[in-house]
Amino acid sequence: MSLPQFKLLRSRGIEEAIDYLSEHAGKLRVLAGGTDLIPSMRQKLFEPEFVLDLRGIGALRGIKPQPAGGVEIGALTSLRELERSDFLRQHYPVLTEAAATVASPVLRNMGTIGGNICLDTRCLWYNQSLTWRKGCGFCIKKDGDLCHVAPGGTKCWAVFSGDTPPALLCLDAEIEIAGASGTRRIPLRDFYTGLGDNYRKLQPNELVTRVFLPASAADYRGVYRKLRVRGSIDYPLAGVAVVMKRSNGHVADARIGITAVNPAPLLVTGAGELLAGKTVDDALAEAVGDLAARTAKPLTTSALTPEYRREMIRVFTKRAVLAAAAN
Ligand SMILES: Cc1cc2nc3c(=O)[nH]c(=O)nc-3n(C[C@H](O)[C@H](O)[C@H](O)COP(=O)(O)OP(=O)(O)OC[C@H]3O[C@@H](n4cnc5c(N)ncnc54)[C@H](O)[C@@H]3O)c2cc1C
Ligand code: SF4
Repeated sequence: MSLPQFKLLRSRGIEEAIDYLSEHAGKLRVLAGGTDLIPSMRQKLFEPEFVLDLRGIGALRGIKPQPAGGVEIGALTSLRELERSDFLRQHYPVLTEAAATVASPVLRNMGTIGGNICLDTRCLWYNQSLTWRKGCGFCIKKDGDLCHVAPGGTKCWAVFSGDTPPALLCLDAEIEIAGASGTRRIPLRDFYTGLGDNYRKLQPNELVTRVFLPASAADYRGVYRKLRVRGSIDYPLAGVAVVMKRSNGHVADARIGITAVNPAPLLVTGAGELLAGKTVDDALAEAVGDLAARTAKPLTTSALTPEYRREMIRVFTKRAVLAAAAN
């Protein structure tokens, strides 16, 4: 599959990138590592007039521990750097675990944290060639007006399939967004809309520039578990991140994030309250697993059945809670 025609722009600074975005808003796609954008362009899911290559912006690379605690991570930092960072492994282990499961080593060398956060939602009926999609009459997410997954509805249920966002949600991450009117910092949990076809709150002239992890989330035990067809490369079909802090054998604080089973990565509401102050045993871990499974709303957007994916959220959550408590 060939790439559509486009004009390549390169920027060396954030301001120049924002100028390009403002000038060509709606006709331009941003390229970070390109590991998702380029295959999608080959499938003609995106046919932008301009592609803006961000890779020359050195200011957006690197993992920078902050003097007052916490850490700043540039949006262009590769997943490989996250995976290999001793600082992150020591203080935010759930993030290194999640990053290490993305795709394959070659793709993690290219793929960035910003690209992983901004990853387009996926669906069996959408991530296909133009010819394939044409044969099915297209769908709501692109060029059509019906949903093959939930016929009769008007909503797109394409599923968010990034591995690091559930870990970042557990760590109370914030992201910095730069645009023509300046920069703003928002909690990552406010970034996603829950809609498969318009999944993130980002204007066409805005960029995700940095990720911040607070000092208050450092040194939690962290576990990430993921379901995929091929262990060496695939996107998650269900993913669970758990962070936990213990005190005197009891859970002092815990959070659970899930991915690949809803149009957005989500924190499991009530999981922390259920665990707080208790000693983790099989029954408690199972109850938390049930709660996570109720938060998951998988549909037939992916290779495995929704029932199996929801069940694996339950099983992985239970296992991850037990593992985090045993570390
Ligand atoms: C075979 C294969 C397997 C994969 N497996 C996994 C997997 O297991 N888990 C997983 O999470 N991902 C997987 N991916 C997807 C991808 O490799 C990763 O999500 C990667 O982190 C994407 O980052 P990138 O820098 O390459 O993004 P790009 O492809 O450059 O961009 C992805 C999207 O985000 C936008 N974007 C990128 N950076 C920014 C920014 N700073 N601000 C605003 N918008 C931005 C782009 O315009 C594009 O829409 C897989 C891809 C392939 C091809
Ligand atoms: S969930 Fe429905 S509308 Fe969305 S991509 Fe899949 S088939 Fe298309």
